[in-house]
Amino acid sequence: MQESLKYILDIQELDMKMIRLMRVKKERLKELEQIADLRRELRLQLTDKEQEIKEIQKNAQTLEAKVQEVTAKMKRLESQQGNIKKADEFNALTHEMTAAEREKIAIEQKISDLVDRRVSEEEILEKIKESLSISEESSLALQKEIDSSIKLINQEGQTLKDQRDLLAKEADPELLRIYERLLRNKKDRVVVPIENRTCSGCHIVLTAQHENVVRKGTNLVFCEHCSRIHYWQDNEAIEGTGAATKRRRRRMASA
Ligand SMILES: [Zn+2]
Repeated sequence: MQESLKYILDIQELDMKMIRLMRVKKERLKELEQIADLRRELRLQLTDKEQEIKEIQKNAQTLEAKVQEVTAKMKRLESQQGNIKKADEFNALTHEMTAAEREKIAIEQKISDLVDRRVSEEEILEKIKESLSISEESSLALQKEIDSSIKLINQEGQTLKDQRDLLAKEADPELLRIYERLLRNKKDRVVVPIENRTCSGCHIVLTAQHENVVRKGTNLVFCEHCSRIHYWQDNEAIEGTGAATKRRRRRMASA
């Protein structure tokens, strides 16, 4: 059993590398998405602002036409007034002219407000355009960097996969199937050594009897707490494997 576990342990190290690699790739892809989102948002703001300015212009034009209408009306009233003899009719016309004059002033005020608004909206539009071009420039460099790093990740992933495929051919198919099912659940090491009579996966203390069965190495033994597969750490046998270097590194780090 210990012998057939060796392939699985090597496969497991490759799978751990692959999991880490895919995590990095996911992060980088997320960065790309965020850049695209930001630009989309700015472009949306840009078209909204352009639309808003167009609306303001349209309203101003409508009001300009109205001013012309009122002006024409005033001229008409003025010429009418010249032909009138009766005082009350004359006064009524004066009244109407004053009202038209007031209307004209009010409309002109509205137009002036619209012009002010347009100027300030156009300033905002310029700022949006500026940030869009800055973001496009800076994100282009970042995008290139992310793209090339993803390319490297894919290459590394392919190498890992090739190595794994070779090992998988040598491994016991039934054991590999069990291992892969456990890995899918835990996304972490699922074939783990017993250290100080403790499962190095879930860190729960095991019985002496359990340890003995694992030490014998004739059966496949699962942790009764976390379902991981246990193996006995034979120091000489595992020298040079990924698990040994990792343990050594851990020891060095804690020393
Ligand atoms: Zn466990």
